[in-house]
Amino acid sequence: MLDEAIDDISGLRTQPVWTKMPQARRQALREALPEQPQGLAAAYDQFRETIRPYATGNRHPAFFGWVHGAGTVVGMLAEMLAASLNANLGGRDHAPIEVERQVIRWAAEMLGFPAAASGVLVTGTSMANMIGVLVARTQCLGPGVRRHGVGMSGLRAYSSAAAHNCISRAMDMTGLGTDALRLIACDEAGRMDLAALAEAVARDIDDGFKPFLVVGTAGTVDTGAIDDLSRLADFCAAHEIWFHVDGAFGALVRLSPTRRGLLDGIERADSVAFDFHKWAQVPYDAGCIVVRDPLIHRAAFASSADYLRRDVRGLAGGAPWPCDLGPDLSRGFRALKVWMTIKTYGTRRLGAVVDHSCDLAQYLARRVAVTAGLELLAPVALNIVCFRVIDVDGDLDTLNAEIVADLQEAGIAAPSTTKINGVVAIRAAIVNHRSTHADIDRLLEGVLAAARRHAGV
Ligand SMILES: *Cc1c(COP(=O)(O)O)cnc(C)c1O
Repeated sequence: MLDEAIDDISGLRTQPVWTKMPQARRQALREALPEQPQGLAAAYDQFRETIRPYATGNRHPAFFGWVHGAGTVVGMLAEMLAASLNANLGGRDHAPIEVERQVIRWAAEMLGFPAAASGVLVTGTSMANMIGVLVARTQCLGPGVRRHGVGMSGLRAYSSAAAHNCISRAMDMTGLGTDALRLIACDEAGRMDLAALAEAVARDIDDGFKPFLVVGTAGTVDTGAIDDLSRLADFCAAHEIWFHVDGAFGALVRLSPTRRGLLDGIERADSVAFDFHKWAQVPYDAGCIVVRDPLIHRAAFASSADYLRRDVRGLAGGAPWPCDLGPDLSRGFRALKVWMTIKTYGTRRLGAVVDHSCDLAQYLARRVAVTAGLELLAPVALNIVCFRVIDVDGDLDTLNAEIVADLQEAGIAAPSTTKINGVVAIRAAIVNHRSTHADIDRLLEGVLAAARRHAGV
């Protein structure tokens, strides 16, 4: 299994980026609950035939869809070792929890947070942002909110209109409601308009609401834009509002020697959510929340139950436990793949991946700019390029969406789509450490060939 997995990863370039799972294969997975043992060999055979060839494709160097990490063999091996221990990181006194604490200290160091900052690994930034909302709520209303609920407290949160939709979902899932999130307009560079933010906060205070949270974005999902984090930090300090940053992929820019200044101000946030499974290439899933004040983090989640009693001696020692820092009790050993990735490659090589992706994005943007029939749709702040085919008869939105689906189905490249100023964009998010200039060329040539085919020339 190990040999074949490594061979498979070595041979990615010779494979299509993505192959749609044929109906017969889907059907082959459907079977009644197995009563008799089928054996490991049979299960593995089915994995080889029915599962492995039809995965997402995000390991492939020509995969540019959404914002996916590519993973590494190191991460894969760490997953195997972690599984061999079958550790439960909800709590108790053992080495795997010390590994997670080390990962959190490294995350704090990367972000410029104090060494005593608190944090926990979670599935992804969606969950990390939700934890950020809950901690901010606890800070604003006090821990009593956990008993009596938010009721009609009139809390209001603010993010830019370009913030990821999981912020709105976090408001929904925490019971604050999506109406309590004000989406602030962006400037031309896709960054939150700070005058509009100040206006919205002032208006809400006048109307008797309680502004409690500003979410800055370091790397918007559509274009990679970065809010002015320093000025947001000033604003939040002046108004005593919790300052949370969604740095899902962008937080890793802190490791880039040439671009880290773009994130100035993130070190002043009250909390930051980000992913190790995107730009840091750790296999899914590995999100992270870091909170400056460990006491308020714990106050938002810690609870006691007789069967989870902490002790000073024995295996029940080692408080606080990770279950005091988030919603999960039983938790896997995500920390090992993060720890091994950071130790194996070091922050220099991880930072070099960030720079390489951004350089490829600049290369793609330049090529789009000089190619007739293509149009760049947004400034390229980091690693995301939004463009489209123009100068073709017919509906451009439909055409560009079809070109993307054509490329995916042909297995040539996998960009995705978004809407920029109301029009459909071909969106290339360059995250993969395996991608090269030749892969960017392959994407562009694929787009142009598909455009010619649709135009019938
Ligand atoms: C990917 C992303 C998220 C969501 O993160 P998950 O790990 O998928 O939950 C949130 N915000 C931004 C800016 C993202 O790019």
